Amino acid sequence: MDSQVFEALSAETLPVRLGGNAAVTNRIGEDSHRWTISEVGDGNLNLVFIVTGEKGAVIVKQALPYVRLVGESWPLPLKRSFFEYHALTRQAQRDPGMVPEVFFFDETQAIIVMEFLTPHVILRRALIDGRTLPRVGRNLGLFVARTLFRGSDLSMVTREKKADVALFCDNVELCDITENLVFSDPYIEATLNRHTTPQLDPLVAELRSDRDLKVEAQRLKHIFSAKAETLCHGDLHTGSVMVTEDETRVIDPEFAFYGPISFDVGMLIANFWMSYFSQAGHETRPGARDDMRLYLLETIETLWDTFRSEFANLWRTERRGILYQASLFEDRRDPLAAEQALNIVIDEIWSEMLGFAGIEIHRRILGLAHNADFETIADPERRASCESKALKLGRHLAVNRQRIHSLRDIRATVERLE
Ligand code: ADP
Ligand code: MG
Ligand code: MG
Ligand code: MG
Repeated sequence: MDSQVFEALSAETLPVRLGGNAAVTNRIGEDSHRWTISEVGDGNLNLVFIVTGEKGAVIVKQALPYVRLVGESWPLPLKRSFFEYHALTRQAQRDPGMVPEVFFFDETQAIIVMEFLTPHVILRRALIDGRTLPRVGRNLGLFVARTLFRGSDLSMVTREKKADVALFCDNVELCDITENLVFSDPYIEATLNRHTTPQLDPLVAELRSDRDLKVEAQRLKHIFSAKAETLCHGDLHTGSVMVTEDETRVIDPEFAFYGPISFDVGMLIANFWMSYFSQAGHETRPGARDDMRLYLLETIETLWDTFRSEFANLWRTERRGILYQASLFEDRRDPLAAEQALNIVIDEIWSEMLGFAGIEIHRRILGLAHNADFETIADPERRASCESKALKLGRHLAVNRQRIHSLRDIRATVERLE
């Protein structure tokens, strides 16, 4: 495949175009006539094929020059594939084993060939089905701590970090999607918005005229766009996590950008809170999902506690960047100064994380990209009842983020909303 002109793959053309590619044939077998191809892309943006040969299977993911969900009327550059590839290679170094292995990348064709995760399923799907995955909170807590710490000036050689900021800074169009669809559109009558209507109309009107909320959403957008602290995944929700009972894997980092450490953490935790509120829409009788609700709240606590303790561990053992140097602290027999600084840094991540979580909840209910947790609740009355509790929690988190001190307090708030 040496053509310099982009061409979208199809199930018919894929064996011809990748049949001579050693990275593929080594893994799945040479005889491309016997490959079976299925297109499984359920995302909003890209083509994803499972390609199976006599020796095995791989995933072939290809970006399209437009948004798949909307069509050719919304162009989106192919280079998002380049950012996904580079983010996957960095994440593989920073938390080995947590992202699919990449076998091949073609920048012109915007194709990534990667490890086929099987029998993994999308975490969001598992949570809708009421499955409790025991390792997810800890695995994801470690993933965010390691990737976010190790991609920052706390750890990296600053020349390399700055070069990487420059590289990812070109992911303009995907950041633009987040800047508009996450931080602004939910709070105005934007054309792409939708919500469960008429049930949510009064609450939506209230949120859109809530001055404190709108200011907070813009402060968070300001942090998102200005704080180039670390390489974020950028789209870390439960639809970007694949799981088995024993394993947790993170996929789809095409939105990768240098942003605040708190962003991925907040987005991820928000999706567990939304799963929590959606459970009432999926249970067959009231209370049938009580254990699931408990599991979700405990998973959020495990995720945050693991993030915090691993971040602290890396702070104490791998703080080799330009920030809070040991030469000022530990080397001058003042380890408590390093601990004091750590507490300040974590406190700031905590309050930003809560804010991002609140905004993420809002945009999934008021904006363009809804999530299956709520969308699969067929009865609009029931769906709106779940969504309105989530919206209220989102507002509480975004506006009060600097006055909320623990997940135990949030658990009490969540339970009062029931
Ligand atoms: P998009 O960027 O369009 O959202 P994703 O990378 O999220 O695409 O992939 C879409 C779907 O394809 C996922 O929800 C998952 O079902 C499947 N998929 C993607 N990557 C893999 C993989 N490495 N192994 C198994 N399935 C995958
Ligand atoms: Mg996706
Ligand atoms: Mg994607
Ligand atoms: Mg505080």
